[in-house]
This record gives sequence, structure tokens and C-alpha cells, in this order.
Amino acid sequence: MQQCCDAYAQAGFGGVSVWRNVVAPNEGGVGLAEAVKIVKGSGLQVPAYVRGGFFPAADAAKRQEAIDHNKQVLDEAAALGAEQVVLVVGAVPGLPLDEARKQVANGIAACLPHAQQAGVKLSIEPLHPMYAGDKSCINRMAEAREICERLQSPWLGIALDVYHCWWDPDLEVEIRLAGEQGTLLGYHVCDWRLETRHLLTDRGLMGDGCIDIAGITQMVRATGFAGLAEVEVFSEQYWAMDQDQYLELIAQRCG
Ligand code: ZN
Repeated sequence: MQQCCDAYAQAGFGGVSVWRNVVAPNEGGVGLAEAVKIVKGSGLQVPAYVRGGFFPAADAAKRQEAIDHNKQVLDEAAALGAEQVVLVVGAVPGLPLDEARKQVANGIAACLPHAQQAGVKLSIEPLHPMYAGDKSCINRMAEAREICERLQSPWLGIALDVYHCWWDPDLEVEIRLAGEQGTLLGYHVCDWRLETRHLLTDRGLMGDGCIDIAGITQMVRATGFAGLAEVEVFSEQYWAMDQDQYLELIAQRCG
């Protein structure tokens, strides 16, 4: 984490979104106090702490457990100075998606007072439908918007990831609506490789694939979104590269 933050700051990047696995000791992380020290010392902004969510469950006790966990994640995000906690909302094989979405809305509603208290927003990240089986029952911006409209909280919004939403025929309309409703909280970029080799760890770097990133970025910026664009590339291929060279390549592709 220290190495990343030093290198990002030196390369002129404005921020770093922090994944919980590099923070939480039980996930192999450096511990919250150390993570806070590293991040604050770097001078980088923290657009997001990643990730909360996974609200749906077959029984009430597990749903409550998820709510409690999300409150803890919000507290950690506050300590890190993160603007938002990104929610991968969850899905349970066998549980109808519509029921799962209701449980997601209820779970988020139960966390919103805590979000306000922590001063950290919650952002629903719609995931590509290929994850509807077990990771996310929310797959389009429209479903995220419906929950935002229902819960009407300034502490709730949407994180748009081009990887998940680029194909959506309503994308332009939904980005505009999110802008109007003040719910566009995060913007993630990468690319969709043709002939994807793995559902999770084969994302492309901007320019490797077929997403009209410039076009989508233009729609996002037209709403007045002034946040950082977050480069989010899960890729065995790029992780295997020399990471200093990779950082240079990322900087080039951001240009
Ligand atoms: Zn994302």
C-alpha cells in the first residue's frame, strides 16, 4: 500500500481508492491505523473505500450481519477520509432477483443514518449482468436510480463503471438523470476486451477494447461531475507486468 501510494503521488495521480483487503488485517491488510497513516501521508484524495454491500441473504440474521458489517466499513472509510463506500450489492443463487433488490434497498436504508453520522456516502455500483447470479442483483443504472429515488437521501448515489454499463441502451439518459438528481458519485474506467478470458480478472486498460470511453466520459463530465475518474483494471496480464512500467502505461492511456 505504501509503495502504491508513493508511486501514484509521484506520477501525479490525484487519488487512490482503497480496497478493504489491503486494510483489514483479517483479509491480509496492514491494519486501519497504518492505512490511515499511509494515505494521509501521501496527500492523495480517497474517492472510495471498496467495498461494502452483499445485503441479500436467505435469512434475517445474515441480513443483519451484512448491515452491521457495512456500518463497520463506513467507519473505516471515515477514518481513511474516503468520500464514499462503493456497494457491490450482492445476489444469492436461488433467491429471485426482485426479492434480492428489495433486500438491498432495505439493507441500504438501514445503513443510511450511519453513513450520515460517518460523513461518508454510499454508492451503488451496478454490475454487468454476468454477475447477476451471485454478486449483484443490480445490473443497470436504472435499477440503482430506482433505489435512490425510493430512499431519497443525500448520502446515497451511484458509481458508474464503464465495464459494467457500456452496453446499456439507456446509458446516456441515465447518466443525465443521475446528474440532475445529484447521485453520480463515482466514475470507473477500464475497457472491455474482446474474447474475454476470465469473468473477473481480464479487464482491459483504456484503449484495449471496444468501449467508447471518450464518449461516456463526455456524458459524465457534461453532468458537472467533477470527481476523479478511477482506473479500475482487474487483470492477471497487467498484474504480471513490471508495475512501474504499468503505471507509466496507465498514465499514457489516461491522456
Ligand atoms: Zn468499478
